Amino acid sequence: MNSQKADYIISGGLLVRGTGVTREDVLIKDGKIEAVGTDLPNDGAKRTIDASGAYVFPGIIDAHNHPINADRIETFSLSAAFGGITTVVPFIQHQRAIGIEGTTLDAVNRFLDEAHETSYLDFGIHAILVGDDDVEYQVPRLIEMGVISFKMFMTYPRRGMMMPDDKMLRAMELASRDGGIAMVHAENGYCIDHLVDNFTAEGHTSKEYYAPTQPRILEIEAFNRAATYATVTDCPLYVVHLSAREILASLEKFKGDGLRLYGETCPQYLDLTNQAMLDHGPLAKIGPPLREREDNEAMWRGLDSRLIDTIASDFCGFKKSQKSTGGQSAVIEDQSEVSTEASIFDASFGGNWAEQMLCVAYEEGVNNGRITLPRLVQVMSENPAKIFGLYPQKGAIEPGSDADIVLFDPSVAHTLSADAQHCIADFTMFEGKEVLGKPVFSMQRGEIIIEDGEMKREMGNAKFLPGNRELAAYAPSGHPVM
Ligand SMILES: [Zn+2]
Repeated sequence: MNSQKADYIISGGLLVRGTGVTREDVLIKDGKIEAVGTDLPNDGAKRTIDASGAYVFPGIIDAHNHPINADRIETFSLSAAFGGITTVVPFIQHQRAIGIEGTTLDAVNRFLDEAHETSYLDFGIHAILVGDDDVEYQVPRLIEMGVISFKMFMTYPRRGMMMPDDKMLRAMELASRDGGIAMVHAENGYCIDHLVDNFTAEGHTSKEYYAPTQPRILEIEAFNRAATYATVTDCPLYVVHLSAREILASLEKFKGDGLRLYGETCPQYLDLTNQAMLDHGPLAKIGPPLREREDNEAMWRGLDSRLIDTIASDFCGFKKSQKSTGGQSAVIEDQSEVSTEASIFDASFGGNWAEQMLCVAYEEGVNNGRITLPRLVQVMSENPAKIFGLYPQKGAIEPGSDADIVLFDPSVAHTLSADAQHCIADFTMFEGKEVLGKPVFSMQRGEIIIEDGEMKREMGNAKFLPGNRELAAYAPSGHPVM
């Protein structure tokens, strides 16, 4: 240890790693973790942070979010920070559909400028590749700049977002060649549109017809197809927001066959059902749709059994009024009251799930005995860092890692509510949910972010985190996902 004093000692807490829970203190200096142990000198730091009674987590990483609507990176990262998240990895795509010229590469560069100015949290970037992207040009250049993960939609053909299969295969091949990772939204978009047309022709456009147009079989089919393509191209594959119970068998098969395959689910698929759609209509519209209780339980079993690797939020910040009108833009003034008359098929997709994510996962996962505390830390911090080439800079409390730390007090009982959240989106599907346990303090690179219920960090101090392909899922010598 250097003779110069450290900046902080976090003392008296229970340190949680994927391997277990220990009573250890953490010494922090110059933004890095200097030492972890039980007998660190108690005069060794300028400030002692008393963590007694709290769990000490590595900062939570949200590897799936879309801060491009009413909530952009500024208010999304603010909201996420209050939820115990310290690192975010947003999805960025070209915006020609809304009249902004340029390629995905241009959109990534614009986002870098915006996030460097306004983000509260360190950030990586995933690129979204759509049908009219020039993958031959984009993929190698994006990987070179540290954008190593490429999401492709297997649905939304009429929104111009679906990636045709032949082009998806080629993008996987290019990603595989250069050390990248493919990501897919696995649903069969042609079948969904066919069903939507049929229901619409019969005048069945209200909320109870939403889930029947996106049945589980369409997720299963697309998942198996994507995993097949990834096998053929030998490309690591991360499948976002899994929701259907039958996916566990597919994960088991393709993982068993040796594919570098990673599954993600989200708090909404772990805790909410189609009842939320029946109760709230457009506000609960997401793709894939909210399903049944049995599917929630299957997602928990997948997390517990290591078939599913991560929990992420899929945050899309819309105001209530934008959800019902299908408004996809950043215009945030209320346009109308939430309408129950409009077709559910015209409402916007997405919900704001980041700020409550850790509390919901802890309550339903740990308090209710579905997963262990170390497993929670694996799926919400260690694994996303490992898969996307950020480990052990992020996702670890070990000497040399960035000092990204969250203190979680398991004794704080509170009620989740839109009134308590910090994004522009003005509702939460977890409204009224009572939970035990709350993130009460966080820091990033040794700089305090949240303390005493307040944001302590100025925006504009966040860093871009290029994905390191040598350390990511791709490299056999990399850190295996637990
Ligand atoms: Zn998403």
